Amino acid sequence: MKKDKILVIGACGQIGVELTLALRKMYGDANVLASDLREEHELLKGTGPYVSLDVMNKEMLHVLVIRHNITQIYLLAAILSATGEKNPLLAWHINMQSLLNVLDIAKEENLDKIYWPSSIAVFGPNSPMQETPQHTIIEPTTIYGISKFAGERWCEYYHHRYGVDVRSLRYPGLISYKSAPGGGTTDYAVEIFHEAKENKSYTSFLSENTYLPMMYMPDAIRATIELMEANAADVTIRSAYNLSAMSFSPKEIAAEIKKHIPAFTISYEPDYRQQIADGWPNSMDDSLARQDWKWHPEYDLEKMTADMLKNI
Ligand code: NAD
Repeated sequence: MKKDKILVIGACGQIGVELTLALRKMYGDANVLASDLREEHELLKGTGPYVSLDVMNKEMLHVLVIRHNITQIYLLAAILSATGEKNPLLAWHINMQSLLNVLDIAKEENLDKIYWPSSIAVFGPNSPMQETPQHTIIEPTTIYGISKFAGERWCEYYHHRYGVDVRSLRYPGLISYKSAPGGGTTDYAVEIFHEAKENKSYTSFLSENTYLPMMYMPDAIRATIELMEANAADVTIRSAYNLSAMSFSPKEIAAEIKKHIPAFTISYEPDYRQQIADGWPNSMDDSLARQDWKWHPEYDLEKMTADMLKNI
């Protein structure tokens, strides 16, 4: 039997660091090759092999895959929602070409499995806002959402046309303390914890009643691994699964933090990210993930807040 050999692309990002560490625990340190444009993240140092890689360079990627006998790729490199709005053509170019490079090499080298995350950003103002279903109106208005939606179609296409076993999740906003977020619209929900601890106050770039779907990083890592471990026959969605854990507003997370830090205060100065958030769902229906591969989140707002404040 072929041994699993995993390449993580974008391993130094908010998700990449924790996912790489989790995969190394499961598959053995030497079998998970971390890569990124950036210098190796402090938390990855000494935990396993690392290479510098620009995923846009298809030849380099191809050589790396052959040289290291890679069987699975986790592609996490991307330009996120808020950064994407500052340079839409660059975001489109990087988000699409990185995925096409990976899918095409997976086809050519007959790789076992590919993971690539999508986002709640695929939905737009015409999608139902509450408990947004898996299959509904999808008219994204940010370049990030447009690139994620196009990416989902490419994943399904490569699966049906060439048999590539590619799997994907529409992550909600992800909250973590180990590695910093990379320019998304939900970053406020990470910043607020740091500011609460350091300064006992926070100015939110989203308005007080902006509800968005969110998830604590341990749940996101577990969801990713559970989807990738599921039997191929049980994975009925080959675009990207809706995934859900909790939904809250800046006002609600502030109230939860106040239970631990009574002096904490919040103020609101919405900026360009408010418009992005206004087009996204308030909450998600992830019943297909629950049905197909038995997804169940562990963290709600209360449990996550206690854990974040303990660990920051
Ligand atoms: P991030 O910005 O923190 O990390 C991305 C990493 O990719 C960075 O370390 C960056 O250096 C690297 N990278 C960028 N361009 C590269 C290139 N050309 N070659 C190699 N590496 C490159 O992002 P993240 O939050 O970890 O997100 C990972 C994936 O999950 C992305 O596809 C993102 O769209 C998706 N996602 C994230 C969230 C979230 O809340 N964090 C929510 C939904 C979806």
